Amino acid sequence: MAQAKVIDGKALATQLNAALQEKITAFTAQQRAPRLAVVLVGDDYASGVYVQRKRNACAVVGIDSVDVRLPHAVTQAKLAAQIAELNAEPSIDGILVQLPLPPHLVASEIIALINIAKDVDGLHPLNQGLLNRGAAQHVPCTPLGVMRLLQHAVGSLAGKLAAVIGRSVLVGQPLSRLLLHADASVINMHSKTPNPSQLARQADILVAATGVPRLVTAAWVKRGAVVIDVGINRTEAGLVGDVDYEAVCHVAAQITPVPGGVGPMTIAMLLHNTYNAARRKLQP
Ligand code: NAD
Repeated sequence: MAQAKVIDGKALATQLNAALQEKITAFTAQQRAPRLAVVLVGDDYASGVYVQRKRNACAVVGIDSVDVRLPHAVTQAKLAAQIAELNAEPSIDGILVQLPLPPHLVASEIIALINIAKDVDGLHPLNQGLLNRGAAQHVPCTPLGVMRLLQHAVGSLAGKLAAVIGRSVLVGQPLSRLLLHADASVINMHSKTPNPSQLARQADILVAATGVPRLVTAAWVKRGAVVIDVGINRTEAGLVGDVDYEAVCHVAAQITPVPGGVGPMTIAMLLHNTYNAARRKLQP
């Protein structure tokens, strides 16, 4: 049986990072290196791994990253004061607060304190609202990475029917908006959608962002569709996506792997947003 073409997010991210590195080298020669503050609260193992990956990626392209570590027990007020300090520091271009925060902290209130020009994760409520008008200062990294993957794999999305499974503020909702802006028609599904497989099967482009391991089976996919798997799920069988890759790759025309699909693109977009934040500030 024919196999779908693999959309190699790692290769595309490497290519984009190389181009960005060149721009940053030129920028740094004229100004200074872009600088990202990475705020990590507590000692959650997975968060530590993600932060280290982001810092390593910064180093590769020439972005300075500043490690801001706070103890698990830090209070909301102390964390807020730290954000205010980073907002006021002129040498900091971007601020990333690694999520999730410990349960005693209100993440949405912390994110809302970040200066929107430094909100390189694009999660500030103002940036989220401005995204609806196509005017956000920064677009969230994962949806932006998915759009870049789709533009690379498909080209124009105009007139395509896209189905997004998941409506989180981090992924599903902003992605649905970006797809609309790219002139796709969009179905945004969620856990209360009846018969999601029937709707999904209509789609030319199917994006799964649910956190449910291998939810999307071959029966959810139209023959010849392009399938993007955002999910990262740690199971006894190892790291798996939200798509049953082995089955779906016989139905789809193109598909992203997990790992090596959306993940590297998310980091590439964080670097891109940080460079943009520095450029807008220093070369207005
Ligand atoms: P979330 O838990 O905030 O949202 C999940 C969404 O999926 C919800 O809107 C929910 O309604 C929907 N959903 C859940 N079960 C469903 C079902 N059976 N049918 C239809 N919809 C269903 O999760 P999130 O933050 O959006 O992340 C989703 C997945 O993407 C997770 O696996 C996460 O680890 C992964 N993720 C990956 C990256 C990356 O860089 N690759 C970045 C962010 C998130």
